Amino acid sequence: MSKILLLHTGGTIGMTMTEKGYQPDGAYFKEAIFHMDSLKTPEMPKWDFMETEPLLDSSKMSVDEWNMIGKILADRYDDYDGFVILHGTDTMAYTASALSFMLKGLDKPVILTGSQIPLCRTRSDGRDNLITSMIIAGSGKVREVCIYFGSYLLRGNRATKYSADGMQAFVSPNYPLLATAGISIQYNDEVFFRKRSDHFAFRPLIDVPIGVLKVFPGIRLELFEAIFAGSFKGVVIETFGSGNIPDDKALVPLMEKARENGTILVICSQCPQATVDMSTYEAGNALLKAGAVSGRDMTTEAAVAKLYYLFSVNQDFETIRFNMSRDIRGELSNSFDI
Ligand code: ASP
Repeated sequence: MSKILLLHTGGTIGMTMTEKGYQPDGAYFKEAIFHMDSLKTPEMPKWDFMETEPLLDSSKMSVDEWNMIGKILADRYDDYDGFVILHGTDTMAYTASALSFMLKGLDKPVILTGSQIPLCRTRSDGRDNLITSMIIAGSGKVREVCIYFGSYLLRGNRATKYSADGMQAFVSPNYPLLATAGISIQYNDEVFFRKRSDHFAFRPLIDVPIGVLKVFPGIRLELFEAIFAGSFKGVVIETFGSGNIPDDKALVPLMEKARENGTILVICSQCPQATVDMSTYEAGNALLKAGAVSGRDMTTEAAVAKLYYLFSVNQDFETIRFNMSRDIRGELSNSFDI
């Protein structure tokens, strides 16, 4: 019988109402799940429970918390067949992306889940999300970092939060679902990540300065100037469509300067379903000329986490640029050479 670790980090699933709104409530949550009969049936894997301190609304999570979660998993890697991380939905896709890079050679399921409605409420979606995630983690079928939510199993570094209201909170716009849970759990085996490294290794992240900039019609040059003048190691620019920016000739020299200063500019799209190709339109060509890197079909969440990771493994500037457009953990599709 397989054994999994259930790690509670915070998020709506374990919150109760206070006069300031919903807040994590560790005592309530622990009591609730230890009394949940469905977690003790023979269909369920054996499980141990742990919680991080303090429990957080995931909007408060940062690189420090990603490192703490990664270390908990790495320290107990040999003791369990799989891991379920209970986490808030707001930054779940960022944490999942970060863990996918930090846990190199991962050969066990790591499933992040949570809920839109707290477990303490009658209509909570937390119960199914929790039970199905535990079954998936115990089955050992999928061996990568995933998000299970609202009956979908998604690759963690392909997922993005889509809804703050609906029970299907996450989508994976540029990669197929890994499984769908209906009456039975239907796995889509052929799209699972195949590990590329024999040894499991945990690499904590260094909190280097990273930026994200979303372009919009009428965006001022000063905004680029302010961001590029900072000491950012990497800036993800969310462009229009397939990688287009507003027409401003002065932008190219600014970007060239940023590059000379050691800032890596990564181009992602504001369209969730997209592959950046800066050569398609004249409006994107300037980015190519300025030496920006295509994030291809990566989510912004994955691009941010990947920048942290590549700077943490201490690669040189050109190698990081090269690797940002290359598939490392299944986070992007390499359909043609960069
Ligand atoms: N603010 C909450 C969080 O991310 C939202 C949620 O869990 O759904 O922790």
